[in-house]
Amino acid sequence: MIRFEDVSVTYDGVAEPAVRHVDFEVPEGELALLVGPSGVGKSTVLGAVSGLVPHFTGGTLRGRVTVAGRDTRTHRPRELADVVGTVGQDPLAHFVTDTVEDELAYGMESLGLAPAVMRRRVEETLDLLGLADLRGRQIGTLSGGQRQRVAIGSVLTPHPRVLVLDEPTSALDPAAAEEVLAVLQRLVHDLGTTVLMAEHRLERVIQYADRVVLLPEPGAAPVVGAPAEVMAV
Ligand code: ADP
Ligand code: ADP
Repeated sequence: MIRFEDVSVTYDGVAEPAVRHVDFEVPEGELALLVGPSGVGKSTVLGAVSGLVPHFTGGTLRGRVTVAGRDTRTHRPRELADVVGTVGQDPLAHFVTDTVEDELAYGMESLGLAPAVMRRRVEETLDLLGLADLRGRQIGTLSGGQRQRVAIGSVLTPHPRVLVLDEPTSALDPAAAEEVLAVLQRLVHDLGTTVLMAEHRLERVIQYADRVVLLPEPGAAPVVGAPAEVMAV
């Protein structure tokens, strides 16, 4: 579902590539963790999946990244909204409307769906994420875990097949982190969504993972496998 073929990314004005010769695959319906020390290129890899790299960052991407068969370099991120949903580290930076309900609806606006379909998808997503009671709330009044679930919900309404998240639990207390991880697990198990998530607090998330993609050090090839295999490296 996600495929990297010999991918190297070089940002403008930086001599060393941010990532080099990255090859891996994540099959459909798996939850994969992207791990490795700070600065190793995790955000760059996620950006290449969502199309933000290089469309919005500049620089050069060599090799090929495909998501559900679409080359992310030849599609604008907006053209990938129904394929890949992206949630950054800071949910507040993500929001463009005021209320929970409006935020879930906003993500579908460019898809040209009938109003009845959009309403149904908002309802279904509110239920899926346990947000039904908060539908009319101003986002600014929500807790961190609730905001993170709204951010996830807003990219789910286009029904993406792939979800990409950059350290979605890093700002959350353990209980809120559990809530977010349980939501992701439900997406994978019940809807067959493919999830790629960068994370540095492994102890929190490893139990949820089907696969680990480890970037051991800058420029090194990734180590990919089942969690127990990779963690033994
Ligand atoms: P991680 O997410 O693992 O911390 P990043 O992908 O953010 O790693 O960064 C990998 C390398 O690329 C770092 O050396 C970082 O400074 C550099 N980098 C990231 N984004 C940019 C950018 N937009 N322009 C120039 N260099 C960047
Ligand atoms: P429509 O495509 O017209 O919005 P529905 O809202 O009935 O139709 O959803 C179609 C199917 O998509 C349902 O079987 C539902 O379970 C499933 N679905 C719900 N949420 C998602 C999601 N986030 N990603 C993919 N499929 C989903």
